[in-house]
Amino acid sequence: MKRREFLTWAGAAGIAATALSGCNSERDDAASSADAGAAPTPAEPIRWKMVTTWPKNFPGLGTGANNMARYITEMSNGRLTVDVYGAGEIVPALEVFDAVKAGTAQMGHGAAYYWQGKMPAAAFFAAFPFGLTADEMNGWLYHGEGIELWEELYAPHGVIPRPGGNTGPQMGGWFRKPIESLDDFKGLKMRLPGIGGEVLRQLGVTVVNTPGGELFQALNDGTIDAAEWVGPFNDLAFGFHRAAKYYYAPGWQEPSATMEALINQDAFEALPEDLQRIVEGAIRMANADMLAEFTARNNRALKTLVEDHGVELRYFSDEIMAALFETSNEVLAGITADDPFAARVYDSLSAYRRDVRQWTESSELEFVKARQRYLG
Ligand code: CA
Repeated sequence: MKRREFLTWAGAAGIAATALSGCNSERDDAASSADAGAAPTPAEPIRWKMVTTWPKNFPGLGTGANNMARYITEMSNGRLTVDVYGAGEIVPALEVFDAVKAGTAQMGHGAAYYWQGKMPAAAFFAAFPFGLTADEMNGWLYHGEGIELWEELYAPHGVIPRPGGNTGPQMGGWFRKPIESLDDFKGLKMRLPGIGGEVLRQLGVTVVNTPGGELFQALNDGTIDAAEWVGPFNDLAFGFHRAAKYYYAPGWQEPSATMEALINQDAFEALPEDLQRIVEGAIRMANADMLAEFTARNNRALKTLVEDHGVELRYFSDEIMAALFETSNEVLAGITADDPFAARVYDSLSAYRRDVRQWTESSELEFVKARQRYLG
């Protein structure tokens, strides 16, 4: 079903691209035959490449990048066409930032925590443990200091960053055995990348960095005992429920995860102003779109996992959550002590979290609790 959807989508995209290029060549012919007349010569269509950290058409994340490119192409009526490339087609996933920096591609799509090796502060523009919900994060990015700090971090590289989607809340992971106490973490072999992985390492977990493509097999044959990926929508597609029965919430490590659009600054500045606005607008549309899609599809997928596949949905105990919180603070303090820019970003995020929590807790949290009480 899903595969057919992708093929249909890919087919439709192909047709749209053909239609657009046909349109352009007609327009070019018309322009050249009218050279002597008063009709203005339309500017030469511009073609951009977008490299991504996702396998081509990867559900939600890759298709979100496709949407972004399609919006730019359609809104500009083909004056700026963006072609999307999956991981490995032009550059490997983890070279997307460098490819946009070098101008090999004019755009990129991924997540900022992939660059935390070269810039520790980058991780904070994607997610951090016990951080912000998707709405809160968008508030900080668009109407707080977020985008400004992000631009400052990437400016030396000639790369412009923008929020390029959000997965919403993620899950705490798949476990082959129940996790009832902190002792159950000791000696466990788990895949969980980034800051969250470091937190689990402190709690006695052997953290491994199994690539996404090998994850199901590793969990299925017991090479690893647990794995965290995204949430129900993406996890169901990977079939983790066939390898592990216990699905834990909440996703303390990623209360939301912001995806990233990258633009080569020189390429952006070379665009006429109306195309610059279209690029910015299309990215903003795609950012909002992805969150809506994840919300709708996570909900359906979670039902399927629990009702059709007998998955046990469980919640980490208070003892475990308290330890995760304490340890997260220690790990974050270590990261920010070593890197002044990371400290600036984390300070800004911490101040914002202190402020915004009062609003979130007195509005959304109170409403959700009341709705749960009365709906039963
Ligand atoms: Ca994740």
